[in-house]
Amino acid sequence: MKQIAIVSGKGGTGKTTLSGSLSFLFENHVMADCDVDAPNLHLLMEPKLLEKHEYFGGKKAEIGNSCTSCGACMDVCRFSAIIPGTTYKIDPYACEGCNACVLICPEGAITLKESKSGDYFLSKSGDLPLSHALLFPGEETSGGLIAEVRKLALKVAEQKNRKYVVIDGAPGIGCAASSSITGVNYVVIVAEPTISGMHDLQRIVETTRYFRRNFGIVINKFDLNEVKTDEIICWCEKEGIEVLGKIPFDPEVRNSAIKAEPVVKNEKSPATRAIREIFQRLMEIV
Ligand code: SF4
Ligand code: SF4
Repeated sequence: MKQIAIVSGKGGTGKTTLSGSLSFLFENHVMADCDVDAPNLHLLMEPKLLEKHEYFGGKKAEIGNSCTSCGACMDVCRFSAIIPGTTYKIDPYACEGCNACVLICPEGAITLKESKSGDYFLSKSGDLPLSHALLFPGEETSGGLIAEVRKLALKVAEQKNRKYVVIDGAPGIGCAASSSITGVNYVVIVAEPTISGMHDLQRIVETTRYFRRNFGIVINKFDLNEVKTDEIICWCEKEGIEVLGKIPFDPEVRNSAIKAEPVVKNEKSPATRAIREIFQRLMEIV
């Protein structure tokens, strides 16, 4: 089984548009939406929910009735998560579960409890299984939730004897992006020809190289700034990076998104032609 991740150095580059279209072109695969902070692949796929799982990303402190308001926990908490009062309380959004208050409390009034950070789901769009998730606002354990999404996708791919797991990765270069690409066979990096686009591209290339993954670049909306596109291509040549293809600006991409369908369903669209060529090249590589 091969795992292919589609990522970008930041959000809004057209990563999910490409993922949705590649999902339509791949056969015998499972999709995993690893953008757990703002998942939107399911909007393009309109899947039917099959399973829902709770995700507990860590522990949070809770103060019980035996609190005497001595204030010791507040002094020791480095995260300002203790709220004083007649009985002290914990701010669950600030608590990092470090256990310091539990150890200091003279009354044994504080306990650490498993805290739910989100949900992850298995859904189905036609014959295509989709593993996806939603991290609760304010939670910071996206890496762990992405690991669950990928584990579920792999399990289903093994059960159904699917050849590929196609991952719509988290944008950026942080923990979530790293969790999206660790262990995959190939990474497709989506870049945009803007002033910040080159910088974002270089950062995600650095991250991908750190994890020693094979990768190639797709330049989205390349014709909106051909000077920057040439800069990206020159840099890729110098770095020995393959440019898998260039997608032109095409109003049909937006029209398709409004209709909640991948643009490649429209055979007349220029973006479709470019994405089909990228898919062919990807098939030769993986
Ligand atoms: S240390 Fe314990 S008793 Fe003191 S304020 Fe905190 S919870 Fe209450
Ligand atoms: S567990 Fe740590 S972060 Fe949470 S309230 Fe206690 S001391 Fe603060």
